[in-house]
Amino acid sequence: MTRKLIHCDTIADYRGILASPGAVLLDGHNVVAAGSPEEIGATDLQPTRVRGMVIPPFANVHSHLDLSGVGIQPPEDSFVSWVEHTITPIRKMSSKEEVHAATDRGIEFALAGGTAMVGDIASTVAVAKQVHASVLRGVSFVEVFGLGSRETAAMDAIDSIPSPFGVSPHAPYSCGLDVFRKAFGTGKPVATHLAELPEEFEATMQGEGPLVAFSKKVGAWNDKVKKWNSHPIDALVTNLEHRKLITAHVNYIEDHHLEQLAKTNITVAFCPRASAYFGHTNHRYEEMHARGVSVALGTDSLICLDTPERISVVDEMRFLYKQGCRDASLLLRMATVNGAEALDEDPTLLTLEEGCVAGLLLLGSEGEATFDQAMQSTAPPTWILPLLSKKQVF
Ligand SMILES: [Zn+2]
Repeated sequence: MTRKLIHCDTIADYRGILASPGAVLLDGHNVVAAGSPEEIGATDLQPTRVRGMVIPPFANVHSHLDLSGVGIQPPEDSFVSWVEHTITPIRKMSSKEEVHAATDRGIEFALAGGTAMVGDIASTVAVAKQVHASVLRGVSFVEVFGLGSRETAAMDAIDSIPSPFGVSPHAPYSCGLDVFRKAFGTGKPVATHLAELPEEFEATMQGEGPLVAFSKKVGAWNDKVKKWNSHPIDALVTNLEHRKLITAHVNYIEDHHLEQLAKTNITVAFCPRASAYFGHTNHRYEEMHARGVSVALGTDSLICLDTPERISVVDEMRFLYKQGCRDASLLLRMATVNGAEALDEDPTLLTLEEGCVAGLLLLGSEGEATFDQAMQSTAPPTWILPLLSKKQVF
């Protein structure tokens, strides 16, 4: 193993800012010590001096890497309009080769953003295999859709998903409750979109509204669709029992959901820039965290981001910082360990605690020295310790 001593302006992880100036003593991918240069003390090593903040790499708990082909697209007037005019044509027009190339681009952009782990929603098993074959750790969730008379086909699709992939019933307005029950019962990792928009509640509980009108237009809504008797969060929590679930967005909750979600093994995959792109404001992530709900950061697809050449939760942290969140510990916790736990990966791989780290990132190319400067910058992270291969075990 190669021992290395790094001196930098700041070191930080999910515990917050650990030292400024900071130092990390490494033996290969093993963190021997991290703290201030005085705490590390004298060694026989000549320190490598870098300007900027050194942090562990990220977990992006909600991405759609196979949607990285067309680049950023402007928002539409409404979610339904976006589904109809942006996403549906992309899905329909893309050949298998184009989807493969888009996924490769997504993997490349995730790595350019300092990502070590992803919770990726794959449109096909082939995409899940492609992401799994990459250096990225985490889970690929194969997406399924099925309402009413189409639920049986969705459940058959769930049965055909090979290990180690997860399953993602798309959302309560596009999958019947039995499809969710089926997914929960498989023992596979499960992810979904939940409480993303008010129209979702209108569709599931009343069978009305623009999502229903659109679903009818494309033949997804049929007369066998059953209404949900309760709010989708209540219904899923009841059927989930204590199994794990990643729920993307959760933009709209009622007060009782805070306590309810805290008692579950649900991780909320908050995608701040995607929420803003679709016009959702005032996400209650800080309140959720304070009440004991696990919140992790995701990006959603490249289509709704503002960084054309990377897919990174560092830019979600920066977005929240700009909105007033100054809590380094909370931002880094949501960007690293909470995501790792949701993905059943070892969270210590994304910390500067003694032991194996998945890699190290430097935020410093624009002269950032402090956490605040790193959050105000728009520069990409740089890998100063490359991403640990999945085959390397410590
Ligand atoms: Zn999504």
